[in-house]
Amino acid sequence: MIPRYVRPSVGTIGTLGLKKIKMSARPTTAYIMLGERCDSNCLFCTQRKENGENDRLSRVIWPKYRTEEVMDVLKEKKGLFSRICFQTLDYKGVVDDVLSLSEELRGIAPISVSIVPTGENEMRKLRDAGVEYMSVALDAANPKIFEKVKGAGVGNRFSWQGHWNALKTSVKVFGKGNTHLIVGLGESDEDLIKTMIELKNLGIYTALFAFTPVNWGRAPDMGRYRAIQLAHALIYRKNWRNFEFTDGKLTDFGVKKAFLEELTISAFLTSGCPGCNRPFYNERPGKEPYNYPHPINKEIAKRALEMSISHIHLRRP
Ligand code: SF4
Repeated sequence: MIPRYVRPSVGTIGTLGLKKIKMSARPTTAYIMLGERCDSNCLFCTQRKENGENDRLSRVIWPKYRTEEVMDVLKEKKGLFSRICFQTLDYKGVVDDVLSLSEELRGIAPISVSIVPTGENEMRKLRDAGVEYMSVALDAANPKIFEKVKGAGVGNRFSWQGHWNALKTSVKVFGKGNTHLIVGLGESDEDLIKTMIELKNLGIYTALFAFTPVNWGRAPDMGRYRAIQLAHALIYRKNWRNFEFTDGKLTDFGVKKAFLEELTISAFLTSGCPGCNRPFYNERPGKEPYNYPHPINKEIAKRALEMSISHIHLRRP
């Protein structure tokens, strides 16, 4: 049975025409949140259990709509989105909800789901219902930070090893895996880059996010984020591994600048499943975005490259 309500992102609602919404970039994926309340308590998440009622995830607002109303428009406007992504909270019955919605919507657009670790049988059911990509978000780039922000440290049942096991199983079932990593949770450049290399070796793609401070912490420095985006492009597009670090800080990409220039037109765009652009997830409208939701020109690409190079030349205080 399909859930009675879903929560599409405000950009999805505007693009579907369910409400007039002014947007400077429209989402190319329909983002739909499932779940009223989350049973988990991840420290960086606005939907966490201890945060009470909240209609935001990161910077995005997710209003409640009747599921049938949203499904009808999605079907009527088939082709409007490159992808449908279910962003699920952690609650009892989440897999059944994704299954029933995927069965209803298969064929409208390829389907992704971002979900807590599930068993292999459930993954097979999701795949058979039409899910193409299953993302299990590590979020943190090292086990200590994982424990602190989404493991036992916040009362969650999740563990670093459990997430890696689920990712490996997802590769077995789906033929590919997907995860999310957040830059700015206190990890080092080396943690992020070595984790991405390990993920790539296993056939798992990384979608990069910038930490969004709501009640605590600081957003990552833009130069650092640009450097990590370039490292991501080198790892995933060039299979590169020879980075240099000093005390965990990236000090050299290990390639010539001309080689980096080749990558800049796409390295700073949103990373994720094909067709995912997540406008304003991490950014404020009017400010330079961490992840560009649309193609950029050469001038912007050049500036972003300079920013990443100045990060690697920065010495630790
Ligand atoms: S990368 Fe994008 S489409 Fe894929 S699961 Fe994450 S948010 Fe959804």
